[in-house]
Amino acid sequence: MLPSLYGNNLERIESWLLKGGHSTSCADILCRYIYNGRNKKLLPQFSKTVLEQLENEFTSELPKPSSIQRAKDGTIKFLLELHDGEKVEAVLIPFYKRYTLCVSSQVGCAMNCDFCYTGTMGLKRNLEAGEIVGQYLFAYEFLKAEKGSNEPRPNIVMMGMGEPLHNFEEVKMALKVFTAEKGLALSPRQITLSTVGYLPGLKRWHEMPPVNLALSLHSPIKEVRDKLIPVNRGWPLPEVMEVLDKLPLHHRQVITYEYLLIKGMTDRDSDAHELAKIILGKRAMINLIPFNPYPGSEYKKPSTDDVERFKKILVSYSLMTMVRTTKGDEILAACGQLKAKQLSL
Ligand code: SAH
Repeated sequence: MLPSLYGNNLERIESWLLKGGHSTSCADILCRYIYNGRNKKLLPQFSKTVLEQLENEFTSELPKPSSIQRAKDGTIKFLLELHDGEKVEAVLIPFYKRYTLCVSSQVGCAMNCDFCYTGTMGLKRNLEAGEIVGQYLFAYEFLKAEKGSNEPRPNIVMMGMGEPLHNFEEVKMALKVFTAEKGLALSPRQITLSTVGYLPGLKRWHEMPPVNLALSLHSPIKEVRDKLIPVNRGWPLPEVMEVLDKLPLHHRQVITYEYLLIKGMTDRDSDAHELAKIILGKRAMINLIPFNPYPGSEYKKPSTDDVERFKKILVSYSLMTMVRTTKGDEILAACGQLKAKQLSL
């Protein structure tokens, strides 16, 4: 199988040109060609040999939709088939001005979190950078076909299947392509990467383009977090927080702390007070995520009143707190409901 064309940033195209005995002077225009829908108008600007070689050595195929499901709230979930038949999910979520695309970083996930549907399938393989970028190119083309070519580019959350920092190199290259001027030219502020607290990756965070970071915190209590997120046993929260505290943040940037509200387990008043103690004094935003049930899940969703009560406690500490409204849940497209297979509902 040929490598994907979309795993290349300017640097890689330059070294590919050099390896083929070409000058790098057409690298810019080649990148423009690749990331502007292989615009035929640009063809006269580079040699036929370069184009032929490019087409012989890379595939321009995008992941193929094997199903597309729509929820009433406008959320669209794609089940995308990769070149080897493996499948991942990507979800377009409508927000006020533009869509956000939730992209996957792995087929399955190795983190084995107790409350997450993706975790139940284990890790099948890492995605290549071109497959991560491919999800975005596919979804944006789909949106433009539906809404017109003026549709703004979706923002990105790396919150689909997989632990992005467990696939560091490929995710890093994908983020480079997303944010490079000679790539998709998104602002790093339009992108958020969420991690379970994968310490080896967090220690290398400075290598990533300066995108936003979200941590799945979920419980301030060691025993509870150990149960929910097994990797907490090896990389405990205090150590993770120590690393996060040292990250340089730009003007007005905050770290998002995702907090899963599970009825009777993480939604008690005492949890809110403990959480506040951990977060106070940090440049932080707390994102409360009511648990989304899936077939066979043992945990329960809290009531709206419980969520409000929990939020009020955090707000009483003046902590910036939002509740993540559940989107696309009737098509199992909400957080933690992704599992590369079509379910009959
Ligand atoms: N592995 C990364 C990226 C996945 S992001 C991470 O864990 O951060 C997906 C988010 O949805 C995470 O915050 C995850 O904890 C949360 N999530 C997983 N299962 C869920 C469920 N059933 N209900 C609500 N949120 C869930």
